Amino acid sequence: MSSTAMNATGKTPLIDIRGLAKSFGANKVLNGIDFHVDASQVVVVIGPSGSGKSTFLRCCNGLEVPEAGSVDICGKRLVDNGKMLPESELNELRKHVGMVFQGFNLFPHLSVLGNVTVGPRKLLGLSRADAEKRARVLLEKVGLSHKADAMPGSLSGGQKQRVAIARALAMEPRVMLFDEPTSALDPELVGEVLQVMKLLAKEGMTMMVVTHEMGFAREVADVVVVMDGGVIVEAGDPAVVFTNPREARTRSFLQAVL
Ligand code: ADP
Ligand code: MG
Repeated sequence: MSSTAMNATGKTPLIDIRGLAKSFGANKVLNGIDFHVDASQVVVVIGPSGSGKSTFLRCCNGLEVPEAGSVDICGKRLVDNGKMLPESELNELRKHVGMVFQGFNLFPHLSVLGNVTVGPRKLLGLSRADAEKRARVLLEKVGLSHKADAMPGSLSGGQKQRVAIARALAMEPRVMLFDEPTSALDPELVGEVLQVMKLLAKEGMTMMVVTHEMGFAREVADVVVVMDGGVIVEAGDPAVVFTNPREARTRSFLQAVL
């Protein structure tokens, strides 16, 4: 069976998910998800805690193995009914998918520059000089050129998260996944991270973002996905989902967060 599917515009989606199901023991966490993300689309995923948002995102880069359904990345099948690509091909495909976590996950023993260069050097085979050149451009982009030699422990949460974004971008991914990137930050540091994410969106980066930042969703998202109980309750234009939600479950979630 062909692993590529076409959307209405005749292009292969960057992420194409069909019939995705995932359980942890008896807990059915994802229960039949169909969704696709096109190039340059910004998708914001919202929904109550425990609704499966993180698991959904993690299935998109092979961090979780779903027991049913398929995930295609850039037209290549990552997983098909519980069967993952072999490790070597999985690692190849993962290079296309950058991920940013709530808890930054920087390497504490490496400098900022070390954090941003390690992936391209070890996984892409760049020379130290080339990796550093790339890293400095990205640190400039996230406003942290002056912190290249700093250690992660000396940075604020907002700075750490911007380093994490630069580190993911250094692999030159085709799509970026963000799992509550600002949830661990003090309120005054949220804006600087969202600003970097807005810049990426403006530049045409394809993004899937789990967030409770409804302002960001309204302003930047092409599509808002509402999850509850392991299914997509509704998905659509933020202007419609936020002002005129179709589903009662969306309305009650929005009432709780807005
Ligand atoms: P969300 O990100 O929307 O809060 P998650 O995807 O993290 O939701 O979790 C959905 C459900 O799956 C929760 O009930 C959670 O406890 C469970 N879960 C998530 N990860 C694991 C895991 N590694 N092992 C067991 N249960 C898990
Ligand atoms: Mg989560």
